[in-house]
Amino acid sequence: MNALVRRAVARAGIPCLWRGKCFSSGNEPAESNRVTPMLRHLMYKIKSTGPITVAEYMKEVLTNPAKGYYVHHDMLGEKGDFITSPEISQIFGELLGIWFVSEWMTSGKSPAFQLVELGPGRGTLTGDILRVFSQLGSVLKTCDISIHLVEVSQKLSEIQAQVLTEEKLPVERDAESLVYMKGVTKSGIPVSWYRDLKDVPKGYSFYLAHEFFDVLPVHKFQKTPQGWREVLVDIDPQVSDKLRFVLAPCATPAEAFIQHDERRDHVEVCPDAGIIIQELSQRIASTGGAALIADYGHDGTKTDTFRGFCGHQLHDVLTAPGTADLTADVDFSYLRRMVQGKVASLGPVEQQTFLKNMGIDVRLKVLLDKADEPSMKRQLLQGYDMLMNPQKMGERFNFFALLPHQRLHGASQERNARQSKTPASSVAGFDDLVWQ
Ligand code: SAH
Repeated sequence: MNALVRRAVARAGIPCLWRGKCFSSGNEPAESNRVTPMLRHLMYKIKSTGPITVAEYMKEVLTNPAKGYYVHHDMLGEKGDFITSPEISQIFGELLGIWFVSEWMTSGKSPAFQLVELGPGRGTLTGDILRVFSQLGSVLKTCDISIHLVEVSQKLSEIQAQVLTEEKLPVERDAESLVYMKGVTKSGIPVSWYRDLKDVPKGYSFYLAHEFFDVLPVHKFQKTPQGWREVLVDIDPQVSDKLRFVLAPCATPAEAFIQHDERRDHVEVCPDAGIIIQELSQRIASTGGAALIADYGHDGTKTDTFRGFCGHQLHDVLTAPGTADLTADVDFSYLRRMVQGKVASLGPVEQQTFLKNMGIDVRLKVLLDKADEPSMKRQLLQGYDMLMNPQKMGERFNFFALLPHQRLHGASQERNARQSKTPASSVAGFDDLVWQ
């Protein structure tokens, strides 16, 4: 099989539901009233200390070290609960790989860099990026590259190790250490696993987060005549073994995250996203590099986006917790506010725009020309349609980047001087530079 298109076959049968697709308030018909171990755990917790915030609910359900949905599941792909862009088409990761190489070149070809991925899923995206790095070996040959994966899931980290490393060289494991796994990729690059971004060594780095910020826990608030009231999760007194949403009787501490001039009557705030984006911006400001964040989201306009997915279906968020994915749209306006003054941010731009600017059409043509079988060609075209079609992932998914101020400084001067719309050192993928 042609090495260039080897992935297409493995990705046959693209299911039609992706997580960015719909909104829900947890009102879909309950697929199952199963009493899961997670439901039992949450009911016990609520009985002993009272209703919990939606953020605490989300955190427990998704990442509780013993029973969390992400910890022991492989939820991605056709047989899982949802599908993501890197699992749909190899082209996605390849274009992101080119973005990092382009940034590395434009910002002065540093002799070394770390590629840090947050929430790497099955390791597919990093794998595709590494293939690009190998293909551009002549450009990168003097650069010392290392891979750093931030992952809480034991199950997914095992899959990432299988996908990325050479089986002949087994990974080293140390559950007690901050670096809980270490290995060497198939192309000979060192790879390390961490549970927290804070544990990744500081240094010139490119950061990547694809469909990561949307799984971070959100607090939900409803505007009432008495002011903002937080939405909490409580036990339903009418039905046994069932949870329900209630409003807190008085103000709660997370209200501090709501903007004073907020006009919406329902908001979701994600303090963990704020902490992570600030850590990224501090690192980029002090040691250089860039961050590329891709997710579905909005610019501070949407209200109730909290939803669940199970087996490629929308799932009631409070039903059978621990068996379904939970997610909320990313508020890019909040991320932008959090980094203001420290680094420059670009975007969000729609996925179809970003990928078009990165040359997806040319790459598709090359792969179609190389594909020997009609089924492969069909697969490539279907994948392209999923990623780019505005009715599918093309508009709902967005790209957002963080860069050191000095990376764009020259561009602004040049742009003002020449009155040109396309500055000489514009950032690949982002058509219009949004200045912060
Ligand atoms: N980026 C991948 C996977 C997205 S799913 C893709 O696009 O295919 C979300 C990923 O984030 C999973 O790998 C999950 O285990 C991981 N994750 C969830 N919460 C996390 C947390 N708090 N810290 C680190 N990783 C987390």
